[in-house]
Amino acid sequence: EQLLAIRRKNCNPMTMKITYYKKPVFIHQGYMQWMWDMDGRRYLDLFAGVATVGVGHCHPKVTAAVVKQMKKLWHTTNIYVQPALHEYCEKLASHLPDPLKVVYLTNSGSEANDLAMLMARLHTGNFDIITFRGSYHGGSMQTMGLTSNSPYKYPIATSSGCVNAMCPDVFRGPWGGSHCRDSPVQTIRECSCAQGYCMANEKYIGDLKETFATSLPSRIAGFFGEPIQGMGGAVQYPKNYFKEAYKLVRERGGVCIADEVQTGFGRTGTHFWGFQGYDVIPDMVTMAKGIGNGFPMGAVVTTPEIAESFVKAYHFNTFGGNPMACAVGSSVLDVIKEDGTQQNSLKVGTYLMTEMAKLRDKYEIIGDVRGKGLQIGVEMVKDKASRTPLPPAAMSGIFEDIKDMGVLIGKGGVYGQTFRVQPPMCITKEDVDFFLAVFEKAIHNYMA
Ligand code: PMP
Repeated sequence: EQLLAIRRKNCNPMTMKITYYKKPVFIHQGYMQWMWDMDGRRYLDLFAGVATVGVGHCHPKVTAAVVKQMKKLWHTTNIYVQPALHEYCEKLASHLPDPLKVVYLTNSGSEANDLAMLMARLHTGNFDIITFRGSYHGGSMQTMGLTSNSPYKYPIATSSGCVNAMCPDVFRGPWGGSHCRDSPVQTIRECSCAQGYCMANEKYIGDLKETFATSLPSRIAGFFGEPIQGMGGAVQYPKNYFKEAYKLVRERGGVCIADEVQTGFGRTGTHFWGFQGYDVIPDMVTMAKGIGNGFPMGAVVTTPEIAESFVKAYHFNTFGGNPMACAVGSSVLDVIKEDGTQQNSLKVGTYLMTEMAKLRDKYEIIGDVRGKGLQIGVEMVKDKASRTPLPPAAMSGIFEDIKDMGVLIGKGGVYGQTFRVQPPMCITKEDVDFFLAVFEKAIHNYMA
């Protein structure tokens, strides 16, 4: 293990930090919601490789589909007519409401968002793109501009024309949205967060309107929003917030893009897509992670009208929509249906939220429990009155302790103050009970 750690240090850039740095985990095998380390120790995986393995590690049906395709054809590009590609695109589009029917396949979420940015600009003839504070939309040069969450940005100019303008953080809002002022690279235009928010939906909508009126360009190419922020720490939006934002963006000539990289494929439980929970229909939907259950895939699904504007551009992607990806994607969609994945996400997720809320009421350091389905955030604070984020060292201590007791979870939030639970959606009520016992024990250990 020592040797492996040194090898990793030498050959993997330290920009990608390992999560459990005190005692790293050496994962080498997985099955459904379980993973095993090199000593054969089993972990309940409640983070799914960053909310990616939606239907379960090495799901037998997806694995069988991969093996079958591997023996037939690994690769050719979309310069040929591939029946499997068109079948898959039709199948994927059938999961989206009209008029979202045209599919572009990519290899990752960043690529999908990059492409959506390009299409928004080409279609509207405008340049500025609006995103939320605390958002994460990718790590490429372009999408880093969309991303607001400061730990994931570099203090240099990335893409231009991106405004991280809107701040809907209900939990932190009453602080006056102080996190909005922390980022070293909120270069562009200031949002109205500094004026402070109250919890009421009307106030949020009012601030949103004011932000548009006072701080945003009069012409907009597009607006990207995660229906529930992932890396931002399961931040949800007030009712009607998206509806109003979509209206304001469209009034300024822009298109609306739902980034479903984390929220898609049934994760929120109530719907297949996160945007459906807000009763809006975007002009483009970007997706990745759960689309391939761990196989590198992404997609943009849009309207025929926007696709028409894109026809004039040259677009080529060597691997996007290759035969392996189509076979995996297609079998993932089948499994979600056959296994009742979305329904399980709702059932088990609701149970987890309800039980976790009881722990929140019991312990001063659990500030907030939020999310939907199996996208859950548990925000840790010094105390409930101040809402001061639990410091990183304390967060790490609890996090490592939970791991030592056999459960892997995630961390997020602008201060790294939110534990994240986004597991393979096949977890059971018994798994949740196990996790809750471990979580409570870790809280006790921390307080002792
Ligand atoms: N959008 C969201 C909401 C994400 O969470 C991520 C990845 N964490 C991305 C886009 C970028 O995806 P990828 O890492 O596949 O490029």
